[in-house]
Amino acid sequence: MSRIDSSNKHSPTSLAEWQALAASLEFETRAYVEDAFVDAVSGETFPAINPATGETLAQVASCDQADADKAVKVAREAFERGEWSRMAPAKRKQVLLKLADLMEANKNELALLDTLDMGKPINSALGDLSGAIGCMRYQAESIDKQYGEVAPTGEDSLALILREPLGVVASIVPWNFPLMMTSWKISPALAAGNSVILKPSEKSPLSALRLAELAREAGIPRGVFQVLPGFGHTVGKALALSMDVDCLAFTGSTGVGKLLTQYAGQSNLKRLYLECGGKSPHIVFADCKDLDRVAQHAAEAIFHNQGEVCIAGSRLLVEDSIRATFVDKVLAAAESMQPGNPLDPDSFMGAIVDEAQHAGILDYIRQGVEEGATLRAGGESQSGNGLFIPPTIFDDVTDTMVIGREEVFGPVLSVFGFDTEEQAIALANDSDYGLAAGLWSQDIDRIMRVTRRLQSGQVFVNNWAGGDQSVPFGGVKQSGNGRDKSHHSLEEYSTLKSVWIALE
Ligand code: NAD
Repeated sequence: MSRIDSSNKHSPTSLAEWQALAASLEFETRAYVEDAFVDAVSGETFPAINPATGETLAQVASCDQADADKAVKVAREAFERGEWSRMAPAKRKQVLLKLADLMEANKNELALLDTLDMGKPINSALGDLSGAIGCMRYQAESIDKQYGEVAPTGEDSLALILREPLGVVASIVPWNFPLMMTSWKISPALAAGNSVILKPSEKSPLSALRLAELAREAGIPRGVFQVLPGFGHTVGKALALSMDVDCLAFTGSTGVGKLLTQYAGQSNLKRLYLECGGKSPHIVFADCKDLDRVAQHAAEAIFHNQGEVCIAGSRLLVEDSIRATFVDKVLAAAESMQPGNPLDPDSFMGAIVDEAQHAGILDYIRQGVEEGATLRAGGESQSGNGLFIPPTIFDDVTDTMVIGREEVFGPVLSVFGFDTEEQAIALANDSDYGLAAGLWSQDIDRIMRVTRRLQSGQVFVNNWAGGDQSVPFGGVKQSGNGRDKSHHSLEEYSTLKSVWIALE
């Protein structure tokens, strides 16, 4: 299959160059099982559609139960063979570092696949690639620095605490950051020595299949990494109900996370790590420094990636004394974030992933208007052939409104007012979710008081969405229980074995 010249490490800088690259792209559309690209057992396919144009890019293998059964069997055999699971960690590291290098060498192609498949702006997709490659390198570099323990028992015994891989891990991921979410899951799982089956979203399968080619080229042994494209209710459910999958690592909606919890209970009580939805509060106190800068961050926090971000700062809580001024500044910042051609490096927002998501967002906007929130910007679809929604801002939102409580997963900001710190904390915590929260203030006492009381897996102080591979990412409450990134995610993909040795 001819590919974009991988010697081209530089990324194009113009729309025309990206369009030319896109035109030369060929797609791998088959499932990757054992060490080969194959059609689904049923022969069924589903279309990959470019949401910016409505064009069908390719017909992709639609896997189901039969494909899942085969892949799980292959994964188990690979694990038992031990080529990977018992390989010295330093050697696994080398293979994963090679895979990261191959991703880097092919970053333009990988970014293009995500942009074409799900509509995100190309620069954003390149940013995701950096995150995906960085995660792969971090986890690869970590694995040969993990030690077991010797417990402090008496002299008549030696008790070792060993860390061992789990076995077969199924990773089920969403479409909003296709390769980055994939890397956050598979990098630590592979580094720890597991066999991994990846189920990409049916809305963004193409980059995962290209990644499988790179994994093979990097030298990941047969059956250790497999990719099954297809729908959640078919192949996803089959993996989740499998009696021979040891761990399910999921990123996606809270609703599906709840289903997976049932499936784990109905099958083999597999380990389950959930990274689910959010409705994140972004609190702006009147004492914050530089309102213009904060307003710019507040707009980016919701409109980045068309608002299709789990940690989108979708609830903006603003101290009433500055609310009118501040909201005007957010409106001005949002004005420059209109959606455009995702292949244009100047586009801040791209297309909404598909018609169902587009219709759902518009429905939330309609409800917001009906519930009496004040529509200050956007609100109308700009779609022609593609699916575009401009930055949409509601003011005067209350915590009884659907628009203020449910995850819209689109470019829709809900602004709330508050008078006191206590009110801000109560509003922020009045949510089923607890993925991220942010606050802006210059008062360190206030910052720490509020931070400690926010029910959230991560708190951003005087920034939004800061992060590093060394810092865990995940939520509390119905945002889930898993932690991606950092050495904590590595721990999730291994188990402890205690070994008692009796000594004379
Ligand atoms: P989704 O839950 O609809 O789908 C996620 C994945 O689950 C897909 O691969 C899908 O095919 C699969 N799936 C669906 N039904 C299934 C079933 N019955 N059994 C097994 N698998 C099934 O979510 P989405 O629309 O792809 O992504 C958006 C959601 O993901 C949002 O709620 C967002 O907040 C969340 N998300 C969370 C994080 C995080 O780190 N917490 C990151 C990104 C996205």
